[in-house]
Amino acid sequence: MQVATKLQAAASSVVLLALAAAAAAAQVTAIRAGRLVDPETGTVAANQVILIEGGKFTAVGPNVAVPRDAQVIDLSQLTVLPGLVDAHNHLAITYKEEPESNVYYLTYVLDPTPVRAIQAASNGMQMLNAGFTIVRDMGNAGNYADAALRIAIEQGWIPGPTIINSGIIIGGMGGQFWPTPEMAVDHKIVYPEYLDADTPDEIVKAVRQNELFGAKVIKICVDCKPWGYTVDEIKLVIAEAAKAGLKVEGHVQTLDGARRAIEAGIWSIAHDVGLNDEMHKLMAQKGIWRAGTETPITLTGHTTQARYERTVSLLKNAYDNKVPLTYSTDADYYVPGRTRGEVAIEFLETWKAAKIPTADILRAMTTNGYKVSQTENTRGPIKPGLAADCIAVAGNPLENIDVLRDVRFVMKDGMVFKQNGVMTPAAFFHGGPVNGWRIR
Ligand SMILES: [Zn+2]
Repeated sequence: MQVATKLQAAASSVVLLALAAAAAAAQVTAIRAGRLVDPETGTVAANQVILIEGGKFTAVGPNVAVPRDAQVIDLSQLTVLPGLVDAHNHLAITYKEEPESNVYYLTYVLDPTPVRAIQAASNGMQMLNAGFTIVRDMGNAGNYADAALRIAIEQGWIPGPTIINSGIIIGGMGGQFWPTPEMAVDHKIVYPEYLDADTPDEIVKAVRQNELFGAKVIKICVDCKPWGYTVDEIKLVIAEAAKAGLKVEGHVQTLDGARRAIEAGIWSIAHDVGLNDEMHKLMAQKGIWRAGTETPITLTGHTTQARYERTVSLLKNAYDNKVPLTYSTDADYYVPGRTRGEVAIEFLETWKAAKIPTADILRAMTTNGYKVSQTENTRGPIKPGLAADCIAVAGNPLENIDVLRDVRFVMKDGMVFKQNGVMTPAAFFHGGPVNGWRIR
């Protein structure tokens, strides 16, 4: 080694040591928030200080002292609020006009699970960039690409929202497909997009298989076929899932299916097509979550005018009946020119059309999202002891919900993912597990 190089090496190790010392000292991050929104109460507080240490909030308030060595993030010109939740998305599938004419059965045939897993990683970052810090991923993920995504994020390999994933959708024979006998019986094409479970033994085993391979919620087809599940069969799914602490979401598309799912005491109902005023009253009585997946008319080709009008009036009816509402999209397609996050936030249009008060739209996107995801005591609210996830926007979302379309800042687990409107996710990438390898 030449002298000059040695000197350079010595100098750079001094710099590295200084950086390391700074990193060790700057364990505390302080956010100066111009305004802080509490969606639960629908209130705003001015000039708040939020302290973060070890990936968690440690203090919040107007008179919190900022430690001398804290890294200060100045959001004094912005409004800080908790992260958003999409209670029903499919990050590991993206059907599109070319080449499959938006028929997802073909996407499943064309795209192998490894490709879908990598696409899911990208979709996850797109969601996080739009302010969604939690996504419930409700199946159609090939051979557990959803679990792979969740594990990769939890291990610390890549940035992404907290994923509450369902594994493979469990249903009666065929799932949501209508395959030929050759493809279904000879080639078992339904699996792994759906897990056939027609008898009580098969139902129990299907739930256990999903749990073994990383599901954090169970998703069933209540009535994808005329031979959908009975009340007792749904109760069996709920009881088996409960042993592992998991809740059950039902894909429901008929009035009869909705009635059975509600009677069985399901945790959440996906889609609004099987719902009506009577079902809404029953759901409100039983406290069943509604993930209505209300496609806006502005996403051309993904709903019809008649269907949209029905969706808007059903959402309004659910709100009037005090059904517990979540913000959910069922986004599983490509809209040219838009990220998955931009597609998801577009669903605000339906909520505005249903004239849901702004504070309640925000509540559906935050507080209720944490509850349906069962994270409300660990992640979501900006409170000491909880995971440090938050976002910031330029205006006040309680006055104008559309400010959520331009998220300027995103923090996940105490790390800055987006600042000044630009993604800066370097801190998230690790060569190996940084949160222990026992994450499954
Ligand atoms: Zn769906």
